[in-house]
Amino acid sequence: MFCRIARGELPADVVHRADGLLAIRDIAPKAPVHVLCFPERHLATFREISLLDPAEAKRLLDFVAETAERVGLDDYRVIVNVGPEAGQTVFHLHWHVLGGRTLPFP
Ligand code: AMP
Repeated sequence: MFCRIARGELPADVVHRADGLLAIRDIAPKAPVHVLCFPERHLATFREISLLDPAEAKRLLDFVAETAERVGLDDYRVIVNVGPEAGQTVFHLHWHVLGGRTLPFP
């Protein structure tokens, strides 16, 4: 599904796009600010992270931090759900960035 968003075939509220990476607002936000960061390239889960070369992996982490700043977050939480038991429902690697209020843990 996120491949289709990246190709422009499905609508999304895009907040940041650069270097083959995309950040969109979550359609069902769990915090006042909730965005999803993902590579346009399809990787199903974080388990496949080693398929990225070191520069790509570093760029992705930088992109997550840049996106948080871009949407006005100073304090925030970054989450990757890995597999259904951890809550993963979309099998295209993505980072959740949540903030805008005090976040209880977990
Ligand atoms: P996860 O459960 O970790 O796989 O996260 C998937 C997230 O994608 C959930 O928070 C959903 O609300 C969100 N989501 C699903 N479909 C869309 C969509 N078309 N646009 C934006 N967010 C979506």
